Amino acid sequence: MTEQHPARSCPNCHGGRKHLRPATLMTWLGDELITVPDFPAWVCDLCGHRTYDGEALAQLSMLLNPEAGTPIQPMTPPPEKTPPATTQPSAQ
Ligand SMILES: [Zn+2]
Repeated sequence: MTEQHPARSCPNCHGGRKHLRPATLMTWLGDELITVPDFPAWVCDLCGHRTYDGEALAQLSMLLNPEAGTPIQPMTPPPEKTPPATTQPSAQ
């Protein structure tokens, strides 16, 4: 199993490279401090600058926002009832 996470250049020091590694995310949800262990974060190997993974953050905000979890009902029409094929005896 190989990890396909290309290193990113650091926007802070412009010299280091950021690698994806698990970190503990701490964020405020209203008055509550939420800690998320093993959250994917990009950490610079030179200056230690840390940014959390954008996609993971988006997923987290979706999880934390109850309104975001509203399921979307697909507009699929009910299946039409097809009458069973009746074999009509051919009159001879
Ligand atoms: Zn850096």
